[in-house]
Amino acid sequence: STPAAIAAGLSAGARRGLLMKGGVVLETLGKITAIAFDKTGTLTAGRPVVTDVVAVGRPARDVLSLAAALEKGSSHPLALAILEKAKADKAPVPPAFDANAVPGEGVEGKVGGETVFLGSPKAAARRLDIGADRLAEIGALNAEGKTVSVLLANGALAGFLAMRDEPRPDAVDALAGLKASGIRPVMLTGDNRTTAEAVAKGLSIEARAELLPQDKQRIVRELQAEGLKVAKVGDGINDAPALAAADVGIAMGGGTDVALETADAAALHGRVRDVPDMIALSKAVMGNIR
Ligand code: ADP
Ligand code: MG
Repeated sequence: STPAAIAAGLSAGARRGLLMKGGVVLETLGKITAIAFDKTGTLTAGRPVVTDVVAVGRPARDVLSLAAALEKGSSHPLALAILEKAKADKAPVPPAFDANAVPGEGVEGKVGGETVFLGSPKAAARRLDIGADRLAEIGALNAEGKTVSVLLANGALAGFLAMRDEPRPDAVDALAGLKASGIRPVMLTGDNRTTAEAVAKGLSIEARAELLPQDKQRIVRELQAEGLKVAKVGDGINDAPALAAADVGIAMGGGTDVALETADAAALHGRVRDVPDMIALSKAVMGNIR
């Protein structure tokens, strides 16, 4: 392809919200044979809604207040759901100190003199024995396709919140189209196995669950070691290492600034079909439509 054709391809993409950082990215997209998709905010809408607030030894409103306080500075989709719920239930949101995201695990900090952690059941279980009964309760929520985040306060279980996030409306068709063109889609998620499998079943996609950011990066490298050319699609929250390791890293929708910086491309409208559209554009420009 001529430089002029590549420039025309890049600007045609940009007009449709498909940003590619240069001709090499455009060219590589057409050679992709596997695509690793994040779940939350990528294959799902990323607008989870809090469905259950379970409190242990204190009122449910306090659980919501502590969780919302920790999430105030976070851009994680689950954080937005918790802040919405606190607002709807008029739960006060006290200030948090030293609040920090723990990538792939949750968020921790100090609220009202208590040291608080909010995150995945697996991450919580690394910090505290949650007990078989509570784990069973969490498992039942997961089987309904809900994601659970556990709240620990001063080393004790304070409660948990369940959230549900629906798949993006175009995900099923976009994934089927990729498979039909010989590209292997895989769902990667930090979420627990039961929830991940409930979502993956609805989308007919293979799923790898309970992954930390470095696990997602490792899986991208494993697929590359199998000889596949791998794209990684994510909102980039916690997932910069995998985006960077992929042959093409694609930031989805209103992703974070980190994602936009790390990624080679961005799908500004946040549709799953933007990914096959980018690949089709590449093939058209490079003249290798089969
Ligand atoms: P995904 O791979 O689906 O995007 P993440 O890696 O971002 O998921 O997060 C994995 C799990 O860690 C979530 O399912 C959730 O339980 C927990 N978690 C991560 N960040 C947060 C947060 N800010 N608030 C609450 N829970 C969180
Ligand atoms: Mg994520």
